[in-house]
Amino acid sequence: MKALKRCNACNTYTLKTACPRCHTPTSSAHPPKYSKEDPFREYRRKALYSDFVEP
Ligand SMILES: [Zn+2]
Repeated sequence: MKALKRCNACNTYTLKTACPRCHTPTSSAHPPKYSKEDPFREYRRKALYSDFVEP
């Protein structure tokens, strides 16, 4: 099974380890890292939750 990769320089999706357009080494299109959105969302949810429990 081939993993889809993405060029960080020009956002080209490819199955190769280097971008066919700009020859930048590609990285996985689905990195296992947290996105920046997740902690922020969690923070907002906590803020909302504490808003609920506080009198
Ligand atoms: Zn590229």
